[in-house]
Amino acid sequence: MYKKADVVIIGAGAAGLMAGIWAGRTDPNRSIIILDGARKLGAKILVSGGGRCNVTHDRVDEYAYAGSSRNAIKKVLRRFDVPQTVEFFRELGVDLKREETGKLFPVTDSAKTVLQALLVAVEKANVQIQHPYRVDTVEKTEKGFCIRGVWGQIDARYVVLATGGKSLPRSGSDGHGYEIAKSLGHRITPHIFPALAPLTLPKDHFICTLSGITVPATLDLWSGSGKKLISFTDSTLCTHFGLSGPSVLDISRYYIAAKHEDPETALTINWLPGKTPEQMDQELQALRSATLQRYLHTYLPQRLARTLCEQAGVDPGTPGYQLTRTQRKALVHTVTRLPLPITGHRGYNFAEVTAGGVPLDELHLNTMESRVCPGLYLCGEICDVDGRIGGFNFQWAWASGYTAGISVGK
Ligand SMILES: Cc1cc2nc3c(=O)[nH]c(=O)nc-3n(C[C@H](O)[C@H](O)[C@H](O)COP(=O)(O)OP(=O)(O)OC[C@H]3O[C@@H](n4cnc5c(N)ncnc54)[C@H](O)[C@@H]3O)c2cc1C
Repeated sequence: MYKKADVVIIGAGAAGLMAGIWAGRTDPNRSIIILDGARKLGAKILVSGGGRCNVTHDRVDEYAYAGSSRNAIKKVLRRFDVPQTVEFFRELGVDLKREETGKLFPVTDSAKTVLQALLVAVEKANVQIQHPYRVDTVEKTEKGFCIRGVWGQIDARYVVLATGGKSLPRSGSDGHGYEIAKSLGHRITPHIFPALAPLTLPKDHFICTLSGITVPATLDLWSGSGKKLISFTDSTLCTHFGLSGPSVLDISRYYIAAKHEDPETALTINWLPGKTPEQMDQELQALRSATLQRYLHTYLPQRLARTLCEQAGVDPGTPGYQLTRTQRKALVHTVTRLPLPITGHRGYNFAEVTAGGVPLDELHLNTMESRVCPGLYLCGEICDVDGRIGGFNFQWAWASGYTAGISVGK
């Protein structure tokens, strides 16, 4: 097959579909093609938010993101903000509802609604989607770009690279986009790694025996020199392999990044969020005849309370007045500052996003056009931007996809 087009968008994920819709709306006379290597379109949108698609968050700002500079991220986010996202989906027939946590979901509670609406909008914008059309190479030519795959070749004036990262590779995002970006002159951050990833513990660690228990907890990240780097407090899930849940997913990228620089980086867990070791110590001293089990069960499930006592080497039935100073210190440490001997993470098959990518300082942020390869635009997860759990990653895809789309359509 040989074809010519004005614009070729590589990747039909959230960012690529958004770019296609806005490029087509900006200039309906342009020929715009979206190519995607996947057999099934939108696999990641369909599985997102547990099948409900957490489209965005009520309060989005640059502090919910990591990777490139916060200032750079803010510049892109404000080009298409949350009210615009809500209005955009409303106009596509997808009303969003806000949950207590601030997360926004479609009122249908179905990710299918979101994908279907985006695909209809792409068609209405007169944009073609071709799949499975995996792109192997993109070459800069005198008049634009030559895009090649086993299916043939397309010559285009402009290319939008929206190939995502490496997370959930079975959805089609296998990281080949980074190679394409590099071949066109871009730098990629020195580390590309899973973010929003569950963390693993040694198989015989006591937390693995508590599989299924979910509690609010605080995770603290410490540098080798003992400085607290970052904390997250949220729901925490004990599993047969280690830990998961929002607090763990949120801290995982900071833990993995810090480990690259400092192997002594450590994670601790406080099972009583908001309570300092000093406060707990004082409360234990004031217990008198109440038992440790009773005290801990005020805050924690029985099984967890009992196990934490056992780990600290104290009998859960001990009344407060019988507790020795050493026992008290051991329990306080186990409950409020337990070191987690993390062995790793669950990898790209379980990570919701990829940290690292093309640094934003290589792009013009008002257009998402490459500074090193004019005519090339980048958007979505291929950029060095990753957000917290809660709809922030899609908001990045909508904002950067919109910006690339209207710019390439002009
Ligand atoms: C399980 C899971 C749940 C999630 N839930 C949420 C959520 O609820 N809310 C939220 O905000 N974020 C969520 N995320 C993150 C969010 O889905 C991503 O950040 C977002 O989809 C990234 O969009 P993208 O378009 O940049 O990349 P992707 O969605 O990864 O899309 C990239 C597309 O490019 C295609 N492609 C790649 N390489 C090539 C190539 N060489 N040739 C042709 N096509 C190619 C792929 O097939 C893919 O379709 C979740 C992620 C996962 C894995």
